[in-house]
Amino acid sequence: MALQYDDQNIFARILRGEIPNKTVLETEHTLAFHDISPSAPVHILVIPKGPYVSFDHFCADASDAEILDFQRTAAKVCAMTGVALDKGEGFRAITNAGAHGVQEVPHYHLHILGGRPMGRMLSTA
Ligand code: AMP
Repeated sequence: MALQYDDQNIFARILRGEIPNKTVLETEHTLAFHDISPSAPVHILVIPKGPYVSFDHFCADASDAEILDFQRTAAKVCAMTGVALDKGEGFRAITNAGAHGVQEVPHYHLHILGGRPMGRMLSTA
């Protein structure tokens, strides 16, 4: 996908170490950290280290190794934060893209939300 990546976005700055973060897990290709403004008792952001704008951009252009590492890291984060289904009560994993998705930070990120019932997926507003 021919998408312009803004390397001044806040997650790019976190990845360069210019802004601190509360890391949950870091691997070769992926970083997971606490959302600065949590919407639930568990609210973790999982991001690839590569310059991908959105979910579809990542899925289209990332290497197999990056995609595998990202997915496995997300699963580990679910286990580490106690929301995974084998021991916890579940979670919601969501990603926003672009204007209609109301994406604020233009670097692909997966929100993992849990620790309480999350309600219906979408409001009607
Ligand atoms: P989205 O609207 O899907 O782009 O979500 C962006 C998320 O990034 C929001 O939930 C913010 O609270 C979160 N966020 C913004 N800046 C930071 C930061 N410096 N550290 C951690 N999370 C952040």
